[in-house]
Amino acid sequence: MPTSDEHSSDPHRPVLAIHGGCGAIPRASLTPEANAAARNALRRALETGYALLDAGGSAVDAVAAAVQVMEDDPVFNAGYGAALNRAGVHELDASLMDGATGRAGAIAGARRIRHPVRVARALAEVSDPLLLIGEAADAWAGEHGFEPVENAFFTTPARQEALQKMLEREQSGTTAGATEQEKHGTVGAVALDRHGHLAAATSTGGYTAKPAGRVGDSPIIGAGTWADDRTCAISGTGKGELFIRVAAGHDLHARMLYGGQTLAQAAEELIHGTLTALGGGGAGLCAVDRHGNVVLPYNTEGMYRGFITGDQLYVAIHED
Ligand code: ASP
Repeated sequence: MPTSDEHSSDPHRPVLAIHGGCGAIPRASLTPEANAAARNALRRALETGYALLDAGGSAVDAVAAAVQVMEDDPVFNAGYGAALNRAGVHELDASLMDGATGRAGAIAGARRIRHPVRVARALAEVSDPLLLIGEAADAWAGEHGFEPVENAFFTTPARQEALQKMLEREQSGTTAGATEQEKHGTVGAVALDRHGHLAAATSTGGYTAKPAGRVGDSPIIGAGTWADDRTCAISGTGKGELFIRVAAGHDLHARMLYGGQTLAQAAEELIHGTLTALGGGGAGLCAVDRHGNVVLPYNTEGMYRGFITGDQLYVAIHED
């Protein structure tokens, strides 16, 4: 992958990096149409977020905008087109963290919030409460001017089919054969702005046929999302339970802050060392450090991913 290292000496040069989940469609079954749709969606998210950074906007603005574009796109498992739980309901998780202030906001198990990242952002502004669940999250969003949608708004034929298939796999005892793509996905964004500030945001429907009430890493600050201007901003994707068990987001930051590791070393050890060694599910992330270096590691067959700077736009799904 091309790197953005050449920008490392200029902290005021903005960078935005995103992922659309490490549950990428296997290369062999990715049709040219699906390939183009995913790449276009990634490009749109990058360009939307970058336009704000370029105009001097904050990293918080950029990550929220990039994630919102992906929440609107049914290619990704977040917002419209999110995965269905085993009861056939969408329960949405999202979070956002501002590296400049340490403020953070999150929702889990929301059923009626069209753009979960917008509500996570609004909660980050108050940071108390920081994390709201289920009906309380939906109600808070309604009280703060976010128009509610019916839960069925998020449903697409592809997600209904995926649920059906996963339930059949359970019946026939073949869930082990399910691809990462059949299981999950998530979207996330990290950014460095012109003022040297970092932010991260993540949004997901979790995984197909998850138990009702199951909460993954995406809304857990320190697990699926973390940002601190002293080190890095990170958004994770993959088996959320693993990210929670190792406090993945905070682990990356701590490796850099206390262990003196570079972002590249810390991310390599976290994904290909710690999380891979636990087994039981794929893992990937996007992260940017305070110098503007970007990493996009994953241990699955592919991860929807990309980054953008003033003179580079990179999008990819599988290994180049
Ligand atoms: N991390 C998400 C979760 O466990 C799913 C994913 O990224 O694929 O909810």
